[in-house]
Amino acid sequence: MDFSVETAMDLLDLKWVQSLSSELRDDVRVIQAQVLVQPAECPFCKAADPYRHDSREQEFADAPIRGVPVRIQFQRRRYRCRACRKTFFEPLPGFSTKRNMTQRLVYYIARDSLIRTFTDVAKDVSVDVQTVRDVFLDFSDWLRQHHPIATPRIMGIDEAKRAKVLCTVLTDLERREYFDLLPSRRTKPLNDYLSKLPGKDRVEVVAMDLHQGFVTAIARHMPQAVRVADRYHVARLAQEAFDKAHVHARKDLPTGERLSMFRKRGVLAKRDRRLTDAERNEVTKALAPFPILLAAHEAKESFLAIYDARNRQQAEAALLAWMEALPVELSGYFRALTSVVSNNRDIILNYFTHRYTNAFTEASNGISKLLQKTGRGYGFEVMRVKLLYGKRGQVVDLSDYDSDAGPSGDGFGFVFGKMLTVRATPSRKVGASGDGKRRGPRFDRVDRLIDEGYYDMGNKAIADEMDSLIRQFAVGY
Ligand SMILES: [Zn+2]
Repeated sequence: MDFSVETAMDLLDLKWVQSLSSELRDDVRVIQAQVLVQPAECPFCKAADPYRHDSREQEFADAPIRGVPVRIQFQRRRYRCRACRKTFFEPLPGFSTKRNMTQRLVYYIARDSLIRTFTDVAKDVSVDVQTVRDVFLDFSDWLRQHHPIATPRIMGIDEAKRAKVLCTVLTDLERREYFDLLPSRRTKPLNDYLSKLPGKDRVEVVAMDLHQGFVTAIARHMPQAVRVADRYHVARLAQEAFDKAHVHARKDLPTGERLSMFRKRGVLAKRDRRLTDAERNEVTKALAPFPILLAAHEAKESFLAIYDARNRQQAEAALLAWMEALPVELSGYFRALTSVVSNNRDIILNYFTHRYTNAFTEASNGISKLLQKTGRGYGFEVMRVKLLYGKRGQVVDLSDYDSDAGPSGDGFGFVFGKMLTVRATPSRKVGASGDGKRRGPRFDRVDRLIDEGYYDMGNKAIADEMDSLIRQFAVGY
């Protein structure tokens, strides 16, 4: 489309709209303006010289001027085409075609929503929170369509809770970044997603928990990928088997002894080699009166020791030996583990040729918790965009996760299904980027998050990347 042009530089600093007057109304700057362009041709049939039909008063929200929200009001003219008789509003370059706002306000909202709460942003620009949220969600759709993240070579697939939604988390284990989040852990959405995933044929390895839906979905959609059972998920089953025996042994004890047994669960969940002498004594004493519990403890320890194998062959031999040696009276407690092992033996053993784990997912729980705390009620999609695009190019340092204890730190954090012994706080590692600083586990404010390097708009590379993406989005909006 062609415009006949007059330009003006004024308070609005918009090329095609000139301010006439301005006043402060209820802490909002309201600017009366006029439009300086008129259409040279009909947008439908391109016939020249449409004529003015009528006009109506319109109001647009604009980015704040010196901290004050802005509204622009003008008579917007409507034109009629001499040839096709259609009517149309005059074009408004720099204004959103979708909402009554300027594109620079769209930019402002999309950018600030990445690093601040919707409520704060809404207050700054004096629009309702829902509008801020909608603009942000449109931005997130646009990102998904126009700037998909490259499909990883080494993929992790896991379940986790994000924004209070149990979801499927796909990660890039090489780059230690999120790849995608699906708001469900069910099999059908995953299959739908994978069937359309571009670049899925370049995935070489998938580390996963042994949720059967995952196992079959990966085989079906990425037959070339080596499936690797996440060792921590497998280890967790061994721990849970022991926990069952422990609960059972406790059940008939008098109250006092039962409580004292209950209190020992932390030390009983530790790997034997990590016990201090005093703790080992404690374990021996606790187990002595219960031969079956002692046997269960041994079975758990010997199962976990399989992961010490140096190669696949050794591991396979150890696994078979373990299965054979498992006392029949323990088979009930260990059934979940043994059936997973029988059904997925190759996938479990693949770990010994492709040593990848999903520790990243566990480690990144901390990021999500921080965001949740600061955002108070971010929906799933907001969380998804923040997690996927908020910190591109930075890695989560997993170096001090203990390979015995698993990603939950010292001891299994999931004893008896509860988070009882998590001491390592993932948030300390996340974002530390190897600068050696220890960070406290609790952050209440967004600026602390930014201090953490998350949405690090101070990091020029990340800021520039996001900035250019948001600009592209706003101009097309
Ligand atoms: Zn026309």
